[in-house]
Amino acid sequence: MKNDTSIFKKILIANRGDVALRVLRASRDLGIPTVSVHSTADSDAMHVKLADESVCIGPPKSSESYLNIQALISAALVTGADAIHPGVGFLSENADFAEIVNAHNITFIGPSPEHIRTMGDKVAAKQAAKNAGLPLVPGSNGEVKNLTDAEKEADQIGYPVIIKAASGGGGRGMKVAVTKKDLSESFSSARSEAKAAFGDDTVYLEKYLTNPRHIEVQVFADAHGNVVHLGERECSIQRRHQKIFEECPSPILSSEQRKRIGELSSQATKKLGYLGLGTIEYLYENDEFFFIEMNTRLQVEHPITEMVTGLDLVCEQIKIASGSKLNFKQEEIVFKGHAIECRINAENSSTFLPSPGKIDTFHPPGGPGVRIDAIVYQGYKVSPFYDSLISKLIVYGKDRETCLLRTQRALEEFIIEPIDTSIELHKKLVCNKDIKSGNYSIKWLEETFLHNA
Ligand code: ADP
Repeated sequence: MKNDTSIFKKILIANRGDVALRVLRASRDLGIPTVSVHSTADSDAMHVKLADESVCIGPPKSSESYLNIQALISAALVTGADAIHPGVGFLSENADFAEIVNAHNITFIGPSPEHIRTMGDKVAAKQAAKNAGLPLVPGSNGEVKNLTDAEKEADQIGYPVIIKAASGGGGRGMKVAVTKKDLSESFSSARSEAKAAFGDDTVYLEKYLTNPRHIEVQVFADAHGNVVHLGERECSIQRRHQKIFEECPSPILSSEQRKRIGELSSQATKKLGYLGLGTIEYLYENDEFFFIEMNTRLQVEHPITEMVTGLDLVCEQIKIASGSKLNFKQEEIVFKGHAIECRINAENSSTFLPSPGKIDTFHPPGGPGVRIDAIVYQGYKVSPFYDSLISKLIVYGKDRETCLLRTQRALEEFIIEPIDTSIELHKKLVCNKDIKSGNYSIKWLEETFLHNA
């Protein structure tokens, strides 16, 4: 395979699922050979079948395979990989892993361990964001150690408040106290959930915004001081704080608001001295943006930004990690059209219960503007061990209306049988009047759509 010798010789992909496949495709497009790793449960996975080399790193349990740092480093050394892409989830936001990778003279495709560490601790992240000029959700000044302090803070902030885990992620370790009466229970349950999920019961308090939207900005920085933003994504359609349906651009921002938040995000990225791809997440309410966190990795929903900007974010990420300069300036980035991503999970569309099992029929949609990033194929067995995301449907249209109609058409063509999938949920979503008008907040899916279903 022909390879640009100034970039990496071989990339090990320390992940599974759609992101492993996505990194594999980007590496291929750059002419770089890949090494896939897999657990014994994933030996038939697409990221294994398509890789140049693959290494089995352990049994199905993630803690013994995809989270096994020793096994991953050994696989990289044995295969001669000079870079590791951590993907999304698993070790992608583990600063120790990034440090260990770098210590073996292997490039970690991501930001510095220091940035991962700061942004991974949400209390430290809020402080860093504040220093970088970003507006915060009003809240406690750092960690809240006990109920007495929590009561004092909550009185100052004003109810409702949300208690959040400093090490939180994936929507876990968050509890709302609507009034003072709920605080004691919410405080202790947030702490115990945080301890169980992250091994750290540090929590902090924030004002609980009642009807915000989740809007995030994609930023990108090289090691030569160049920073750009790649516009925003609207990710308000969530269940249990997990994104389900995303759009780019947001249907409600004016061009002035878009410009304001984009520029603010790039300036902050520059002040932070950040390197690589990152996403700054905000809650947006009444024309105000409030920083909630920065994700120091690729996002699941990155393809909608790719559709609208025409850029390949993963190829660019790999090039930047190898020391290349950003080869486009902010003013050269053209945002064109509209894109939607539907996350297709192996789960029931009404009960949301997981639905693992063998796929007998897999018929993906096609036609103009339709992209499928799927890990499944006919005969593939969806494993009960991992995340239920089995496919992403990404649709592009010259405007939002065209995009919504196309998404509907693509969903109608899409067949995955006999397991349950969220295709059914998305079919109902795309023709819903609130989705069509763009009139929704982070509460809409659970409190309006599912509530009335
Ligand atoms: P995680 O890292 O677990 O994903 P985030 O801080 O990114 O946590 O928040 C995830 C989601 O939780 C947000 O998109 C939003 O729906 C909700 N959320 C977080 N903070 C607040 C808040 N202060 N008020 C209302 N909703 C919030």
